Amino acid sequence: MCGIVGVTGNDNAVSILLEGLEKLEYRGYDSAGIYVNDLNGKDYLIKRKGRISELEAAVGPDVHGSVGIGHTRWATHGVVSEANAHPQFSEDHRFYLVHNGVIENYKELKSEYLSNTTFASQTDTEVVVQLVDHFVQTEGLSTKQAFLKTLGLLKGSSYAFLLIDSTDPETLYVAKNKSPLLIGLGDGCNVVCSDAPAMLNVTHDFLELHDGEVVTVKPDTVEIEDANQHKVDRKRFTLTWMPVKPIRDLIHTTC
Ligand code: GLU
Repeated sequence: MCGIVGVTGNDNAVSILLEGLEKLEYRGYDSAGIYVNDLNGKDYLIKRKGRISELEAAVGPDVHGSVGIGHTRWATHGVVSEANAHPQFSEDHRFYLVHNGVIENYKELKSEYLSNTTFASQTDTEVVVQLVDHFVQTEGLSTKQAFLKTLGLLKGSSYAFLLIDSTDPETLYVAKNKSPLLIGLGDGCNVVCSDAPAMLNVTHDFLELHDGEVVTVKPDTVEIEDANQHKVDRKRFTLTWMPVKPIRDLIHTTC
């Protein structure tokens, strides 16, 4: 476990992601990272071991964008390191993915589909992002089709996923199974988070997600589909809580 944030359609993506991760510190973590894209051909991947303050210090003034994903990791597969921190990415750096949870059959999937792929980390997560790329490259699938196909192969796994295709970066692909994840509805932007307090500075309107659903999030639209790819009409709920200060001192506690 522990925390996921994402945003599309807001020029303050970097600060939204970093503030969101701070608000999720209470879930515990050992490393953190962000991927940000400016939609004009520039993107940035920054990861650090340890506290979010170290990640913040590594994010220079040049780092900017309107879409991005962020993660706090609690290592389950692979040591605590920058390479194993998320976002994980595909060999060709086209796809970026954050994941909370565990992929039970990642070894089997790696040997069945990815024997020719060079891996940059020891994580179970990297298998997922490499699989999406593999199915796009070898079967000509769209990103969403490749994501769906990959999800169908993850046996007995728990996950919350947030995926970006850097060739069409405005769109976030989202799915969950036995791990929490919410969509937040902003004004001209939309966000994704493990827990609502992470995004109360952006919105108080949220959509709950159910296991097995696949969600396509763009700046102005959120499309939820069930496991049979039928559109789902989900009612939003509004929270009246006020934003709270991040609890900076709780690190590596329980998820
Ligand atoms: N299993 C993944 C890893 O070890 C994700 C851990 C998490 O939920 O933070 O990188």
